[in-house]
Amino acid sequence: MFATLTKQGLCAAALFAAVSVHAADKLPNVVILATGGTIAGTGATSTTTVGYTAAKIGVEKLIEAVPEMKKVANVKGEQVFQIASESMTNDHWLKLAKRVNELLKQSDVDGIVITHGTDTIEETAYFLNLTVKSKKPVIIVGSMRPSTAISADGPINLYNAVATAGSKDSVGRGVLVTLNDEIQGARDVTKTNTMTANTFRSPELGSLGYIVSGKPIFYRASTRKNTADTEFDVSKLDKLPAVDIAYGSANANTIAIDAFAAAGDVGIVYAGTGDGSLANTVRPRLTELRKQGLQIVRSSRVGNGPTIRNGENNDDETDFVVSDTLSPQKARILLMLALTKTKDTKEIQRMFYTY
Ligand code: ASP
Repeated sequence: MFATLTKQGLCAAALFAAVSVHAADKLPNVVILATGGTIAGTGATSTTTVGYTAAKIGVEKLIEAVPEMKKVANVKGEQVFQIASESMTNDHWLKLAKRVNELLKQSDVDGIVITHGTDTIEETAYFLNLTVKSKKPVIIVGSMRPSTAISADGPINLYNAVATAGSKDSVGRGVLVTLNDEIQGARDVTKTNTMTANTFRSPELGSLGYIVSGKPIFYRASTRKNTADTEFDVSKLDKLPAVDIAYGSANANTIAIDAFAAAGDVGIVYAGTGDGSLANTVRPRLTELRKQGLQIVRSSRVGNGPTIRNGENNDDETDFVVSDTLSPQKARILLMLALTKTKDTKEIQRMFYTY
């Protein structure tokens, strides 16, 4: 009897060992694309949390700092560029989107993490949300404190991002932004505080979930089309149409929109007051510019709620597009991509209600 039990025990142990080896083999393959930002920043002292230098540490050092990642994924790093994200450009986005698409086509890549400065993380996330042609997870991560600070948030954020990128639960959810143990969707996330670690929010529409001890837990999903389901393809583009943002305020004038038009912009996003309202000193000039062929998107500087078609302006008459709930900075991205496909206002408005 004893002998039988021991034999059974040994069999179970052997089986367990086999399963463990198998599990290690089966770790997901995650590529980290590093682009700079505070997560790769260094300060003069451990208490320097403002006035540090962003984009200093290379990707290999970022990976070395978080050995725990090796338990949740096979990780490889690549330095795509090394910049503070306020200097992000359309050209950087095209390069990044092409690299992400190339990597995700490979059967030995299961997910991607992009390390990024927090200032424009939401814009890069939305651009990729519209241009990545794969359902595999793409996670963008940053940190609010530099790598040299006490309680730096970069290492835990990076660990969580890699775990989320390697999780099957993250497949098909669009591009995600993970900081501070929270998962945000690319379309709705925005930076809401200039310095705190919980700065990323999806105002009113809400975050998608949490990361608990390295496990992403999702509670909701965006209903808007993204990644493999979009109609945009940047694989053959080496330039995006010129679109800029003008900001509404009291005492509004046309200096900025005149300059944009003179510089050859093909579209302007107007961050209007309230529900995207336009001062009587601005509306006539925007209407004229539309007649000259520039595409005008009416958005709002408020930060919450939709800009409503034919609400504060007769958009049918002026032939403008409204941004729906997209912020002006995300409306700029969608308008650029829309203009790579069409100049038709109705079509562009449809895209603003689709993405
Ligand atoms: N200015 C920095 C950047 O966006 C801020 C940060 O990463 O938190 O690169």
